[in-house]
Amino acid sequence: MQFRGLVLEYGEIPPAPGPFRDAYLWAHGTTALNAASRLYSDATRDLAIRGHLWREDPSICSPGSPWSALTACRGTNVGALSDFSESIRTLDPPEYARLATLVQESERAAVSALNHLERTSLADACHAWIHRTGALRRALVGCRLTYEDGEYWTNCATRLAHWRVGLSAGIQTSRLCSACGKNAAMCDHISGTDAPHTINRRDETCNVCSPVPCDHREGQVVLAQTRTVFGTPRLDHAAIVRYPRFPDARVTAMTVDVSNRSGREGGRFECAACLGRCAGFSTVL
Ligand SMILES: [Zn+2]
Ligand SMILES: [Zn+2]
Ligand SMILES: [Zn+2]
Ligand SMILES: [Zn+2]
Repeated sequence: MQFRGLVLEYGEIPPAPGPFRDAYLWAHGTTALNAASRLYSDATRDLAIRGHLWREDPSICSPGSPWSALTACRGTNVGALSDFSESIRTLDPPEYARLATLVQESERAAVSALNHLERTSLADACHAWIHRTGALRRALVGCRLTYEDGEYWTNCATRLAHWRVGLSAGIQTSRLCSACGKNAAMCDHISGTDAPHTINRRDETCNVCSPVPCDHREGQVVLAQTRTVFGTPRLDHAAIVRYPRFPDARVTAMTVDVSNRSGREGGRFECAACLGRCAGFSTVL
């Protein structure tokens, strides 16, 4: 099996485990959960106004029901689904595209909510919202597998959300001497003492003044206090972890085995995981 994933996100680095992290996860998770429910309500309301009533599968768990109950209770809704999929073909394309985006965003928000709240009392609610939004997204835009290099791939957010592993980045950087640019532990300069520095403005910043802006020119020699600077960080490796530092650093696509389904190579297959019964969560590789 192969997969692709997200290891790092732009912006602030989430706090390390402890009370600050718990508060961070709660704040971001509840915001995402609210967004999921708001986007879903907007989409179903706009669909209903246009005469396309989305009949939610009543067996989709209500928030608060235990995860094990989901596995047992959630039935497929294939009949109602095909009627709905047929009826929405009459939507004009720009309106269809707008609603499809709303629904995909609601599903992503529900997944993000679970990523942040999986160890809280709201985990069941997040799980329920993933299925609710995923089922509507499936009805609206489908869930086609793509064929690439001899493998079938899925990027089904609902399906991938059930694989409870995350990705963690190993970053390597080096401590360099500001005066000579060599490894700070190996050169003869002493941090905190004055030494001639040749200005180097690689990466737009000055090796003497960074992060403070200055007028030094490349190649100019100035007397300055020697300090330790960090080299450009590079991604050294990515590891699979149960709870990633970046809660949304998860698998975004994976290959699926379609050998037990009929169809020619490169043929059209639809994912069934966002449609059928919930098979529960997995943490195994
Ligand atoms: Zn040095
Ligand atoms: Zn400078
Ligand atoms: Zn799917
Ligand atoms: Zn589920």
